[in-house]
Amino acid sequence: SEGRTSPPWYPSPKGGTVDQWAESYGKAASLVRKMSLAEKVNVTTGTGWSMGPCVGNTGTTNVGFPSLCLQDGPLGVRFADSITVFPAGITTAATWSRKLMYDRARALGKEARGKGVNVLLGPCVGPIGRSPLGGRNWEGFGSDPYLQGIAGGLSVQGIQDEGVIATAKHFVANEQEKFRQLSEILSQGFKDVIAPLSSNIGDRALRELYIWPFMDTVRMGLGSVMCGYNQINNSNACQNSYILNGILKDELGFQGFVMSDWLGQRSGVASVLSGMDMTMPGDGLLWADGNSLLGPQLTRAVLNGSVPIDRLDDMVLRIVASWYQIGQDDASYPRPNFSSWFRTSVGPTYVGAGPSAGHSLQNLYADVRDDHHEVARAIAAESITLLKNINGALPLKSGKEAKKSIMIFGSDAGPNLLGPNGCPDRSCNNGTLGQGWGSGSAEYAYLVTPLEAIQAKALADRTMVEYVLDDYHYGRINFTAEKTPNATCLVFVNSDSGEGYTSAEGVLGDRVDLKLWHGGDKLILSVAERCSNTIVIIHSVGPVDMEVRSLNCLLFGRLLMGDKAWIEHKNVTAVLMAHLPGQESGTALLDVLYGITNPSGRLPYTIGKSLADYGPAAPIMMQPGGSVPQQDFSEGLYIDYRHFDRERIAPRFEFGFGLSYTTFEFSNMRITQTRAPTEFPPARPVGVPAPELNSTIPPSSELGFPPGIKRLQRYIYPYLNDTSITKSPEPYPYPSGYSTTPHEPSPAGGAQGGHPALFDVIFHVTVSVKNTGSVPGKAVPQLYISYPNSTGVDFPVRSLRGFEKVGAGPGETVDVGFDITRRDISYWDEKRGNWRIPLDKEGNIGSYEIFVGDSSRGEGVTGRTEVVQ
Ligand code: BGC
Ligand code: BGC
Repeated sequence: SEGRTSPPWYPSPKGGTVDQWAESYGKAASLVRKMSLAEKVNVTTGTGWSMGPCVGNTGTTNVGFPSLCLQDGPLGVRFADSITVFPAGITTAATWSRKLMYDRARALGKEARGKGVNVLLGPCVGPIGRSPLGGRNWEGFGSDPYLQGIAGGLSVQGIQDEGVIATAKHFVANEQEKFRQLSEILSQGFKDVIAPLSSNIGDRALRELYIWPFMDTVRMGLGSVMCGYNQINNSNACQNSYILNGILKDELGFQGFVMSDWLGQRSGVASVLSGMDMTMPGDGLLWADGNSLLGPQLTRAVLNGSVPIDRLDDMVLRIVASWYQIGQDDASYPRPNFSSWFRTSVGPTYVGAGPSAGHSLQNLYADVRDDHHEVARAIAAESITLLKNINGALPLKSGKEAKKSIMIFGSDAGPNLLGPNGCPDRSCNNGTLGQGWGSGSAEYAYLVTPLEAIQAKALADRTMVEYVLDDYHYGRINFTAEKTPNATCLVFVNSDSGEGYTSAEGVLGDRVDLKLWHGGDKLILSVAERCSNTIVIIHSVGPVDMEVRSLNCLLFGRLLMGDKAWIEHKNVTAVLMAHLPGQESGTALLDVLYGITNPSGRLPYTIGKSLADYGPAAPIMMQPGGSVPQQDFSEGLYIDYRHFDRERIAPRFEFGFGLSYTTFEFSNMRITQTRAPTEFPPARPVGVPAPELNSTIPPSSELGFPPGIKRLQRYIYPYLNDTSITKSPEPYPYPSGYSTTPHEPSPAGGAQGGHPALFDVIFHVTVSVKNTGSVPGKAVPQLYISYPNSTGVDFPVRSLRGFEKVGAGPGETVDVGFDITRRDISYWDEKRGNWRIPLDKEGNIGSYEIFVGDSSRGEGVTGRTEVVQ
């Protein structure tokens, strides 16, 4: 609520305090010592929107530290040619495959490097999907922190293993698009709103849901974090000292740098003191106006003493050290060889400054794709989640046994008539849906539509193929659905969403409901009424409403009895959730339809029967309700399945659900305790000392524009027009609570990702997985814990704490092991400000129920821990 505030946490912890980064900080210190004040400022400040080839470009130095290229995004190199459009985050999560999560990131990192990107603006591990309507949920890895954390961590590893700095975003609790960015809010006519939405949230849910995945990314040696547009407890994410200084840099031991989301910064000195290290794209409050909140303002603030020079040094050290740490000082590291702004080879060097700033060769059309279509296809195929399969509908047969005729329905099967990149940043929903819209999308080098792939296969099989791609031409749809007896009817439907700066069909970013677009329900029902073998394929950003009933059943406004939701319709024989597959949409779908790939996707969210079933977190806040929109996360931990479980609401398909062409049985759980845990982690380890540069403030006369410099319009320079600086008044009006006395460190910190003991393995669990069917397949055993219930602490019914993906042939049994760490069995104790293992009244660690199953509430095997203290 409006009353909720965020406590001060100052001064900003310095980088260079963990062993693994010591060498990089040493090198960075030597380099930064050679930088002038202007050069240091340049390292921290973007040159302005479209002032360079990338969506973010930092200023230059003369000491061998380059202008950095920062480029989106989580599923492909944005605004670039000859790249792979990988499946979206939500799709990757649905594979539940650690290997594919890593492989995708590795391939993406390699492409980014090939294009000369220094800092890739992904992975996205927030929003996590507090509301199923959140416009950007699809960029991340689903509505559970553990799944999100594993996928996020592996993504950081993969990207950085290629020498590219990864960015975990958006820090933190940035769960809806509406009211996220001031310029958007104003342009939507909310004239009285003076600040972005505040996500009001308690410390426990903050740690256990929203910070959790970021811990995993930091633990992997993460180079950068993007602070979000939103506020947390009425303090902007990019100037929230508790969030950035306290949680990220102290408690999580983050050694890299914090960049603002694009125009996410709302103040100068206050943001810097709160732990923001870099401003993007450089412009401060408006796009491309050349007025920065850092740049010359930072120069001035250092000269007049309002930003301590050691804070500036730390900002620069963090950026330069990340560059060393991830290996970019390697002379072979490519410079940007593409332009975000045009496709001709030569174009304006600084688009934002206009043509008078000169032209240069920028697009070299480097084809960086390699064989990455293979991993893209594997992910798209392994993500496909089989939700229903009756009457042996799937897999389809090939060759002589192939179906006589296939009828395809829906615009989602075919091409966008404007071309695969026909709408800027995919801000339309025409043709098959492969990505959501916004900065998290990328330009297709090609897109294989389902129609193309199926048609090619059908021709080989001598199957007839017909289609109706017009979603609303019911005359033709009905005629086609019933004209051939025994036809297989494939109905393609979708649901889209995206980022708030652009829209599609009037949807401004967040979804307005869970409905299929373009009358998808009516399309399914129209076909199913006429075709006894109707297979539904869904491309979607998230869960969709499958409960819509036939229109024929509405008689004088009354529902006729006996009529069922389309998902239960007897003629709907199979349903596939194909998520957002990226460029390999058709090829991957074909693999699953014809059983080349046995479906092994599992839902990374719950499919509820109504929006209301998702509980109080579900609605998007659509009205500001005051000058600063207040969004209370009053549901605490209870989002998605945690809410359904607690309220005993039956979902349509639960979190983790997905069928296969075979069946699996889990048995024989063995639990071993590997370590005797204490209630709290032991004393926090002491790190290594951060480098001290002991810089002195140079005379302000050195910070004027160098004589003879050709000043570009709107380009952001570090220099001052007026160098007559007077020292700031004493005492300078610092943010309340500001202090230069070191803050007491968090007991939960001490290493990258948090206290190292949090990651100690306490239990090892093994189960046997048997393929009880007749074809090979991959199972996804998921481990959920239930906390002991005699502790007086409130816990979700079940929490995901492990998963594996494992292949087995018919009749084969495979053992699968899971490690359960201290963090996995702890909760965040708000009073103690620490992770704590709950004790019962006798002061003992209680018994945890361990469930390993094929979904969050499916079939499986259960055991209990007996803790030896
Ligand atoms: C988005 C970020 C993105 C940035 C740069 C922002 O609007 O929120 O996710 O990385 O733009 O394009
Ligand atoms: C950027 C967004 C920004 C928008 C403004 C996009 O290209 O990535 O971050 O909000 O442009 O027009």
